Amino acid sequence: MTSRRDFLKKAGLLSAAFAVPAFNVNGDTPQSKIRLKNTKIAVDDRWDVIVIGGGPGGCTAAISAAREGAKTLLIEAMGQLGGMGTAGMVPAWCPFSDGEKIIYRGLAERVFEASKKGVPHESKQKLNWVNINPEYLMQVYDQMVADSGAQVLFFSRVAAVEMSANDTIDAIIVANKSGLVAFKAKVFIDATGDGDVAAWAGASFKKGGEDGVVQSSTLCFSFANVDTYHYNLIGPSLHTSNKNSPIYDVIKSGKYPLIGKHFNSNLIGPDVVQFNAGHIDNVDSTDPWATTRAMATGRQIAEQYLEALKEVRPKAFGSAFVVKTASLLGVRDSRRIEGDYTFTFQDWLERKTFEDEIGRNCYYIDVHKPGHKATRYKKGESHGIPYRCLTPKGLKNLLVAGRCISTDEEAFGSLRVMPPCLVTGEAAGMAAVHAIKQTKNDVHKIDTVLLRKRLKEEGQYFL
Ligand SMILES: Cc1cc2nc3c(=O)[nH]c(=O)nc-3n(C[C@H](O)[C@H](O)[C@H](O)COP(=O)(O)OP(=O)(O)OC[C@H]3O[C@@H](n4cnc5c(N)ncnc54)[C@H](O)[C@@H]3O)c2cc1C
Repeated sequence: MTSRRDFLKKAGLLSAAFAVPAFNVNGDTPQSKIRLKNTKIAVDDRWDVIVIGGGPGGCTAAISAAREGAKTLLIEAMGQLGGMGTAGMVPAWCPFSDGEKIIYRGLAERVFEASKKGVPHESKQKLNWVNINPEYLMQVYDQMVADSGAQVLFFSRVAAVEMSANDTIDAIIVANKSGLVAFKAKVFIDATGDGDVAAWAGASFKKGGEDGVVQSSTLCFSFANVDTYHYNLIGPSLHTSNKNSPIYDVIKSGKYPLIGKHFNSNLIGPDVVQFNAGHIDNVDSTDPWATTRAMATGRQIAEQYLEALKEVRPKAFGSAFVVKTASLLGVRDSRRIEGDYTFTFQDWLERKTFEDEIGRNCYYIDVHKPGHKATRYKKGESHGIPYRCLTPKGLKNLLVAGRCISTDEEAFGSLRVMPPCLVTGEAAGMAAVHAIKQTKNDVHKIDTVLLRKRLKEEGQYFL
C-alpha cells in the first residue's frame, strides 16, 4: 500500500527530508516610508462602538456593547468568528470551573453551553476541558452576535490608526476588498489578541519576557478517518502529561525531528481527532515574515505527527489523513498592553480581590517556554480581574479585551486562555457603552460600581 507520505512525495508535495520551505524571504521589514497623497479613503462613521478582532474576547465585547444599546460593528480579518477557538483550531475549552463551581459566567457561560451541542459525545455536565467542534462554534458565535444586533464585517483587517488628539482615536483604517476604508466610532475595543490597535495608537506594551522571547506557537490540526474505537483506547496517552505516551518513543527514535514534547489530542467528532501539538519557538506574531515561515513549519509538523502515529499506533491512525491545518497560526503570546493597572504574578499568588473586578479567573500559570513549571490553585480558589487592566494608559476612547489586557509575563500565562478572554470581552463591551453615556467616551472615568452591577445582572461572577 502506498503511504500518504510516499503519495505526497511522488506528487512532489513533500520533500524527502521533510525540509521546511524557505520561501526565499529574509524577514527584514523595509524601513523607508511614503505618505499617501493620491489615495482617497471612504469614511464610515455610523458606529458608537467598533470592536476589532472576532475571537472570544471580541465576540463577547460586541454582543454586550450591542445589548447595552450601542450601534456596534465587529471587524474581523478572517471569514469566521471565534479566533483561536475556530480558525486557530484550539481543540478544547480550558476549565470553566474552579473545581467546585463554574466561575466564568454571563456571556462566557452562554457561549460555552451553546458550544457543547457541537460535541454531543461529551457529557452535558462536564465543565473542564470540554472538546470544541470548530465549525459548530463558528455558528454559535455567528448566531449570538447576530441576535445581539451587532454587525459583522469579515475579510477586513485594521492596518492603521488615525488620532484626533494624542489620547483619542478618530478612526481606524481598514484594508479590505473595497480598498482602504476609515471607520469612526465613539469608543473602540481592541480584541485583536496582538493589541494591534492599541500599539498603533501609541499605547505602551510589553512582549514576552525581559529578553523579548515569547511563548512558543502551535499550528493546530486535525486528522480524519481515525478509528474511533482504537483511538478511545489510547487517547489519554496522547497527552504531554502521560509519561508512557508513544510520542515520547517517537521523539527518542529521532526519525521525526519536528515532533516535540507538547501534544494534546481531542476527539471532536466521529473519527476526527484534533491536535494541539508541536512547538514553533519564539515566533513574533507582529512580524508577517515570521508567521509566514511558522505556518509552513506547522504544516510539516502535522504531517510528521501523522506519519509517526501511523507507525506506532496503526490500529487507530493507519487510515487517517490530515484533513485540516488551522488557517490562523496558534499564537500564545504577543503584546500585553499597559493599562491603568497591571495584574501581576504576585496578585495571582495572593488570589487578590479588587474593588473594580469584573470577573474571576482560576486557570494555572501555563507558560510554554522551556524549563517553566506550572503553578496551580487548589479547588475553590480564584483571583479577581480588575477593570483597570482593560483601560490602556493614556488613551481615552480605547479598551482592550482578550489576551492583550494588562498583565505581567507570568500572570499572562493564566489570563490568556479563552474563558477569561470571554469575561474581559463582556466587561469591555459594556464599559464602552457606559463611557459613551457617562463620561464623553472616557473609558478611565466610568462608574465601576454601576458596571459591576450591570455585569452581575447579566449573570457574571465576582466578589
Ligand atoms: C496553540 C494554542 C492552544 C491553546 N489552547 C487553549 C485551550 O486548550 N483552551 C483555551 O481555553 N485556550 C487555549 N488557548 C488560548 C486561547 O485560544 C487564546 O489565547 C484566546 O483565543 C485569545 O482570545 P482573543 O479573543 O484575545 O484573541 P484571538 O482568539 O487570537 O482572536 C483574535 C481575532 O482578531 C483577529 N485579528 C487580529 N488582528 C486583526 C486586525 N488587525 N484586524 C482585524 N482582525 C484582526 C484575528 O483574525 C482573530 O480572529 C490556546 C492558544 C493557542 C495559541
